[in-house]
Amino acid sequence: DKPMEKERNRLFQINRESAYFFYRNLMNNTDARKYLYKRSISDTTINLFKLGFAPKSWDSLEKYLKSKGYKEYEIEKSGLIIKRKDKSGYYDEFRNRIIFPIYDRKNRIIGFGGRVIDDSQPKYLNSPDSLIFSKGHNLFAANLLEKKSHNERIVLVEGYMDVVSLFNKGIFYAVASLGTALTKDQGKLLSKLGDNIYICYDGDEAGLKAADRAIDILKQEDIKAEVIVLADGKDPDDYIKSYGKEKFESLFENALDYIEYKIFFYERKYNLNDTEEKIAFTRDVGKFLKDVKSPIELDAYMEKISQRTGILKEAIKKEIFGYNLNIENKSIVNNRYINKKYKNNKDN
Ligand code: ATP
Ligand code: MN
Ligand code: MN
Ligand code: MN
Repeated sequence: DKPMEKERNRLFQINRESAYFFYRNLMNNTDARKYLYKRSISDTTINLFKLGFAPKSWDSLEKYLKSKGYKEYEIEKSGLIIKRKDKSGYYDEFRNRIIFPIYDRKNRIIGFGGRVIDDSQPKYLNSPDSLIFSKGHNLFAANLLEKKSHNERIVLVEGYMDVVSLFNKGIFYAVASLGTALTKDQGKLLSKLGDNIYICYDGDEAGLKAADRAIDILKQEDIKAEVIVLADGKDPDDYIKSYGKEKFESLFENALDYIEYKIFFYERKYNLNDTEEKIAFTRDVGKFLKDVKSPIELDAYMEKISQRTGILKEAIKKEIFGYNLNIENKSIVNNRYINKKYKNNKDN
């Protein structure tokens, strides 16, 4: 409806004006610029992303926006200013931070991310969800990819800095989810942006877990994706700075598909030389075969598990899908599975 549309447009304008304010501040602040240069980010990249800097001040943005005619109650709705606890006024949400404007696919600024330039906490701050910003429905840098109508390859990373750093080194097909676990909607957006989706999260335990959840979400949506695992806990930014663009791009050749990633993820927890553990591992990973719809994929995946454990494919198939069952008849399999689950629930 019309009034809502007006309110939304007003928020887009506030964000646009604020991004300009932040950008100009970055140009005028040597420390902030030095921080980005120290992280090897070039002026071209700064300009491409319209990076900015929020000054170390409680009210400079508020004052600036008011001077442009925006009212407190409007600015508050953008999340850029926050009401003081004693209600005596407002303070700027982003202070002394590098600013990453977040665009939607129509190139409107919907929110911001901000990073400290020292080691104060929290390291990152994001705009709250608003009338125009919903974290789970957007991906950072999706607007930059949209220029080409469709991409052969898309790489999903964790952080703003990863995306910026990859673009900075000539990888123009990176996006990041916005500080939350990947959602179904973001999955759908990914599949619209490109054909081959690669998840390249941080190589630490948190990143491996997040990748495991992300690949499950995508699987549920029937979206094919592969996972790149970075060694030594590195993130894409660390990696490309250490090894360069070519080395980074060669990682795609050895990316792990759904079941390969499951095998990788679970085998870290088991000693496959121990029979009991090997059985437990096979059951753990085998569970994921139930979600595989294509019989060809299923066979290829069972082959992988079999190679890894030495357990025969036929045995894995029987264990997972039951005896005397035809893999082609997946509906029966699924019904059996659902009935079993239902029964288990009832017993509880
Ligand atoms: P940098 O290299 O600048 O330290 P990073 O991208 O490696 O940044 P991570 O700690 O790996 O930072 O976090 C990845 C992403 O998770 C960030 O880009 C941010 O979106 C989100 N994030 C991290 N810490 C926080 C936080 N304290 N609050 C909200 N979001 C956060
Ligand atoms: Mn991390
Ligand atoms: Mn990093
Ligand atoms: Mn990181």
